[in-house]
Amino acid sequence: MDFHCHLDLYPDAKQVYIEALQRTEFVWLVTTSPRAYAATSRVLAATQKFFISPGLHPEVADKKHGELDMLLSQMETCTGVGEIGLDGSARYSQHFELQTHIFKSVVGNCARLGGRVLSIHSRAAAEEVLNILDANPGFGTAVLHWFTDSPSLLQRAAESGCWFSVGPAMMESGNGRKLAVLMPRDRVVSESDGPFAKVRGAHVMPWEANTVAIKLSEAWRVSKDDASIALKSNGLRLIELLMANVCHGSAIWRHPLSASVGS
Ligand SMILES: [Zn+2]
Repeated sequence: MDFHCHLDLYPDAKQVYIEALQRTEFVWLVTTSPRAYAATSRVLAATQKFFISPGLHPEVADKKHGELDMLLSQMETCTGVGEIGLDGSARYSQHFELQTHIFKSVVGNCARLGGRVLSIHSRAAAEEVLNILDANPGFGTAVLHWFTDSPSLLQRAAESGCWFSVGPAMMESGNGRKLAVLMPRDRVVSESDGPFAKVRGAHVMPWEANTVAIKLSEAWRVSKDDASIALKSNGLRLIELLMANVCHGSAIWRHPLSASVGS
């Protein structure tokens, strides 16, 4: 299962899509802008294995902020949102105010709509992300993707109920492995973050997201099978959360593994 993938951005996206249909159980395709969401939804069918969500990536906040209203309206009929969030790193911090405006609007809209599942970017900005989430009770479920901030902020996020999506590229770094040890093991799911994420120079593919179980088993000091089982059962629960939101909203997506949930 891959809970954070930019499948539309692989050089050969259609081929990756076809292969992913055969080789994965589930892919959450997070888009980087509302227009990209509209285009991707037209080109790639949202099958039962593919969940496609509208987003507005903080790295393009300055170029895409004019699409915020489109995003807010797309959120009405989609139970997930992403990629969304804040980036406080030197390269993007000059637009931090704009990013904050977008992120606050989205999280507030999630609460207004009765809750959404968010795939969140929080590089060098986890504190601000958590402050905004805390200020909007009822926003839904936050999945912090490729978390890189401090152990104390990770702990705060865990205490406030956040989930974490972890991929093979994150586990290549010592800091990533150290943080993974501290994550709540019943709220960790696998991701690829492809094609941005690379391991040894190669794009991480959606069907390789599950290989993170090997490194997680080392970090958690459990068997690889136990780590895989945890990732799978967490993944199914997260899919159910998406489904729970479907029941309250008007969204159309349904996952076959969650057939018993909702109607
Ligand atoms: Zn991403």
